[in-house]
Amino acid sequence: MTSGAPSKPTLAETLQARLAERRQRGLYRQIKTLDEAPSPHALVDGRPMVAFSSNDYLGLARHPQVIAAQQQGARLGAGATASHLVNGHLRVHEALQEEIAAATGREAALVFSSGYAANLGAIGALIGRGDCIVSDKLNHASLIDGARLSRAESLRFAHSDMGALERQLQRAQSLGGNTLVAVDGVYSMDGDCAPLAEIARLCRRYGAWLMVDEAHGFGVMGSEARPIAGSAAAAGLSADEAPVLMGTLGKAAGNAGAFVAGSRALIDYLLQFARTYVYTTGMPPAVAAGALAALQVMAREPERRRQLRDNVARFRRGAGQLGLPLCDSASPIQPLLLGCEHTVMSIAAELAARGYLVGAIRPPTVPAGTARLRITLSAAHSGAEIDGLLEALGASLATLRSAAAAGIEVRPHAL
Ligand SMILES: *Cc1c(COP(=O)(O)O)cnc(C)c1O
Repeated sequence: MTSGAPSKPTLAETLQARLAERRQRGLYRQIKTLDEAPSPHALVDGRPMVAFSSNDYLGLARHPQVIAAQQQGARLGAGATASHLVNGHLRVHEALQEEIAAATGREAALVFSSGYAANLGAIGALIGRGDCIVSDKLNHASLIDGARLSRAESLRFAHSDMGALERQLQRAQSLGGNTLVAVDGVYSMDGDCAPLAEIARLCRRYGAWLMVDEAHGFGVMGSEARPIAGSAAAAGLSADEAPVLMGTLGKAAGNAGAFVAGSRALIDYLLQFARTYVYTTGMPPAVAAGALAALQVMAREPERRRQLRDNVARFRRGAGQLGLPLCDSASPIQPLLLGCEHTVMSIAAELAARGYLVGAIRPPTVPAGTARLRITLSAAHSGAEIDGLLEALGASLATLRSAAAAGIEVRPHAL
């Protein structure tokens, strides 16, 4: 030991202290290992469960034609073996990009290996030092990280507050440079839609560029002409009004990966400058083939979207009757806002004991004091499964209320 050296905590001490703090705050996260993926039936430790936590809104992750297409795609090789620009770009990627462009009504599209990568890459390519990025406070972490990494001036506005957005656009105008406005079309933890028509109007007025993240809109909603294009199409926005459209292939499309769709120039540009596209291995051909098949099923089987809508309505009706704290959401994302981390963990544990998997979402994923159960509906849920979840929710909340009334502190390990 060198005498006189300042005594710094070791790596192990630092990690232990930070983990202990996270546990103490009820924010410690644990991985759940599933024997079988939820679509919507999961097997956990050999026990069958019904999942109301996946983003497989249309049940395509288990669609026989989608799986068969993946298996067929794997014949082209297990991996792309290089980045898209080197030798990792196959005809199946090209076909997928064409299908995405057609479905979204854009000139072209570019696939990325994840939505996280697509957002980081697109934002970083489009703006930089001297520019501004204006974001909704509830934007997905990948948009927030993209804004940070871009080195542009980051301006945020209160959730869907158009007065606040306009003030930030005025500030951006005074700072100079280009301005990108980035929003979730459907908010991932709240399920509500961005007021896109109004946002597009403000973008036009201030000469800002609009980027819409369709992670939860693509495949689920759209216009009459483009029923799966997403929330921007549903809001009636043209390709000029929403020039940068990002979507994922791991949610409603049931596969993995993501895309940006837009003008031919935008796609050519991103292929040059989006670092998360250039410096990463290409999407495995099996995934591209599976996603392509999923898009074809979406177009061919509109009844899946109808069933999803009916399931959302059934859940909301039942939850309303039970007096559950529903949010203002018409999407398949139906959060129950409980506020307290410990309560959320308790109810999620009780629901799991009754055979239902739901997302227990805590800060920092959501703002402090807004911990929630994130319940997601799928076209693959039966009416009986939704009714079963509602019954379990009613019973779990009753247990909790009576425990609270008896002055018992309810913690997950007590259940
Ligand atoms: C899931 C999600 C992403 C990230 O997509 P991945 O493909 O899972 O990386 C981006 N934005 C939003 C709004 C999301 O919900």
